[in-house]
Amino acid sequence: LTKEAQAVVDEIEEKNVDFLRLQFTDIIGTVKNVSVPADQAEKAFTEGIYFDGSSIEGFVRIQESDMRLIPDPETFAILPWRKREDGASARLICDVYNTSTGEPFEGDPRYVLKRAIDRAEEMGYSINFAPEPEFFLFEEDDEGRATTETADHGGYFDLAPKDLASDVRRDIIYGLESMDFEIEASHHEVARGQHEINFEYDDALTTADNVATFRTVVRAIAAQHDLHATFMPKPIPRINGSGMHTHMSLFEDGENAFHDEDDEFSLSGTARSYLAGILEHAPAITAVANPTVNSYKRLVPGYEAPVYVAWSDRNRSALVRKPAARIPAASRIELRSPDPSCNPYLAFAAMIHAGLDGIENDLDCPDPVRDNIYEFDEDTRDEYGIETLPSNLGEAVDALEADEVVLDALGEHISEKFVEAKTQEFEEYLVDVSEWELDRYLETF
Ligand code: GLN
Ligand code: MG
Ligand code: MG
Ligand code: MG
Repeated sequence: LTKEAQAVVDEIEEKNVDFLRLQFTDIIGTVKNVSVPADQAEKAFTEGIYFDGSSIEGFVRIQESDMRLIPDPETFAILPWRKREDGASARLICDVYNTSTGEPFEGDPRYVLKRAIDRAEEMGYSINFAPEPEFFLFEEDDEGRATTETADHGGYFDLAPKDLASDVRRDIIYGLESMDFEIEASHHEVARGQHEINFEYDDALTTADNVATFRTVVRAIAAQHDLHATFMPKPIPRINGSGMHTHMSLFEDGENAFHDEDDEFSLSGTARSYLAGILEHAPAITAVANPTVNSYKRLVPGYEAPVYVAWSDRNRSALVRKPAARIPAASRIELRSPDPSCNPYLAFAAMIHAGLDGIENDLDCPDPVRDNIYEFDEDTRDEYGIETLPSNLGEAVDALEADEVVLDALGEHISEKFVEAKTQEFEEYLVDVSEWELDRYLETF
């Protein structure tokens, strides 16, 4: 056993852990887990735990269904929503290996992100990510099913008693803190029933693990309060949807490679090229960072979500924002398109490869756009050379299929399965008849 693994085995003993949930995610980003008795920990760390991957979304074909999970000891955490008296449950996030080759499984999203991080490292960079996930808390009906009724009528930064959900948010935060999250801030968002909890930045892999964990914890603790937490991007039309703005920066030799104090926006040449890469590949990134039919109901003008491919140091209608940084180490860029329905491993990998492509090819960064782009007409956008993000999942998948850099970021296995799954999802949507259509046409014609 490695030192880290031994420490986990000791902690399992000490804290009276009975069950281990070995977790990984499928292509969609759903957390899957295999539960094993805690006395299997040593075996899990050394030999791994075998499972049948054939029924996991996008994993393997039936003929080659054996997969092996090896837990990452760094990810050990006791699950806060289980009662402790009768023995605790803990989770470990795992890497997935091919049993026949012993190699990392290329269909494992965590491996896709690790590959992106390796490429950055080869170029001399480490990467920090910080997401701002937003979500709604909805009431359940008598049968315990989710509704879109909100338990509170608060608005942006409102305080109790208007924000009735602040109790729930507090419990969620306690739960997250018990799993070693550093919570920076939490507040009521713009829409009724909408919330945001920010946790501290970390390296890209830890942050993607954190997003996966975050969604699980938020849902589990909301459920204890008989509320349904949803990360669906746009559950209610005509009010703000839920985004997951993603902040990123590169470090080189311990210094923030995005910072240049002589620059007007304190952005270095490296930052500008990285930003240029993000803008260049934005349409394809959208397929990964906004992977549902519903994602595109959020990416419309007027609700603080981006529509146009541009960056700005001040206005929030742009795709990328350069937030003011108080100290050089905090210089970063914020991509505002991602939403919390994405698979964070794949979305971060796409962003990293796009940015690194910008650096490698020394792409030119356009000037910032400081006006409200929602108000530009088409001619003005043309004048500025501003492109539009894909307006639906079908267009986004087309953009992905045309973008070698983002396809390579996902790797052959995942890009193939992803395109297949998302094409099917979009086609299903196209032939469906919605509530809106019935309301509009049923009695008119
Ligand atoms: N909810 C908005 C979005 O969809 C963001 C609002 C905010 O954080 N200012 O991205
Ligand atoms: Mg925020
Ligand atoms: Mg927000
Ligand atoms: Mg933000």
